[in-house]
Amino acid sequence: MTNYLLDQKKSDVLTQANVLSGYVSQYQSLSADTISYLLTQQHISTSSRVIMVDADAVITYDSIKEGSLVGKTMFKQIVLTALSGSDITVSEETIDGEMVVSAAVPITVDKTITGVILMQSSAESIGEYTSQMTRSILTLAIIVALVVALLAFLFSGIITKPIRNLTRSVVSMSEQDSEEKLDIVNGGEIGELVDSFNKLIDKIEMQEQKRQEFVSNASHELKTPLSSIKLIADSLIQTPDAPREMEVEFLNDMNVQVDRLARIIDKLLALTKMDDSGAVSRMEFSVMDISDLTARVVKALKPLAESKNIELEYKSDIGIFSRIEKDRLWEAFYNILDNSIKYTKPGGKVQMIVEREDNCAVVTISDTGIGIAEDEIYKIFDRFYRVDKARSRETGGTGLGLSIALTAVELHGGNIHVESVEGIGSRFKITIPITLK
Ligand code: ADP
Repeated sequence: MTNYLLDQKKSDVLTQANVLSGYVSQYQSLSADTISYLLTQQHISTSSRVIMVDADAVITYDSIKEGSLVGKTMFKQIVLTALSGSDITVSEETIDGEMVVSAAVPITVDKTITGVILMQSSAESIGEYTSQMTRSILTLAIIVALVVALLAFLFSGIITKPIRNLTRSVVSMSEQDSEEKLDIVNGGEIGELVDSFNKLIDKIEMQEQKRQEFVSNASHELKTPLSSIKLIADSLIQTPDAPREMEVEFLNDMNVQVDRLARIIDKLLALTKMDDSGAVSRMEFSVMDISDLTARVVKALKPLAESKNIELEYKSDIGIFSRIEKDRLWEAFYNILDNSIKYTKPGGKVQMIVEREDNCAVVTISDTGIGIAEDEIYKIFDRFYRVDKARSRETGGTGLGLSIALTAVELHGGNIHVESVEGIGSRFKITIPITLK
């Protein structure tokens, strides 16, 4: 800025010197008074000093009266340059430390240089102006910095409030087991974060509820055969003289309950194994023909169907190879086919069809059994859920068979679709994507 203003000043002083030199060359010799008059006419500030020298560099006019240099020779470089025919401007500091801008212009009469006009003007105002500007800019910068700091403080408070709330909730969740939800903040990434956090809490609550239900159902299921065993044992103890046949009958009953306990525990173990991701990663998957597996399931259940006088039909495409965990999938097919035979009256029909559809193995198990009411269908895959508890228990059911089947099928990336009409029959369609990797 100082440079710009200095250049500006130089150009002003040069113009004024040029105008003066023009007048002087036009009228050749001007009296000191005329020059003073011209200076006022040209609005040249009284703080500017005008010196005129002749061709020998002798001063013929000096606008300063006190300490006038008239009659003296001026051997300044700037004057000599002008005498050689060039306009020249310089800025320099005087001994008092004052900034001065000078311009020297030759006076030319008939192409001959007859002298030089030297004009000097103080540039002190430029220094004052720039330092005033610097002060103003500094003050403005401080005010802006303060305002920005204040705004940043206020906004950071507003922005970080939800993050602090979130942190507080996470800490209190981990320390006190509380499941406190957060207020949704409108929009933005933080709003999304809070929303995800609340969804996570919902999920944890749901899982916790499921876990409690599962534990209470499992305890209840285990308690029933245990109570029977305890009752039979008490009766045996209290009847020391019981005849041998009665004892054998009691022990047989006890045996049936022990078998039931073992069955429930086996199924619970199978389920928890599939719930444990660590155990799942240790499972052995191998490439196998799914129709081999289904044929073996049918073979295992044929005697049960025959004993109930149920027609068991089996049709299968062969060579549907996929990478499977054969024990888990065997159990899934077994449980569903076992159910169809269990829940079909003697004389009924059960059918198992294995087909390849695109990149999936589709196993359809249908029966002409008792069917499932529409509002029960979505519940039958829940752990321990049985439509008719007494009937299921009679047939040795635990209410775990279908949840084991679904977990096993989902483990293979598949799904189970159920259609059923009460009194007519049910159809379970199991779809498993074929993967050979
Ligand atoms: P369960 O051991 O009692 O058979 P599941 O989990 O295998 O337990 O089945 C859950 C319930 O679904 C059964 O109790 C039964 O009420 C119903 N169900 C399952 N399969 C059939 C079927 N093919 N026909 C009619 N009801 C069925």
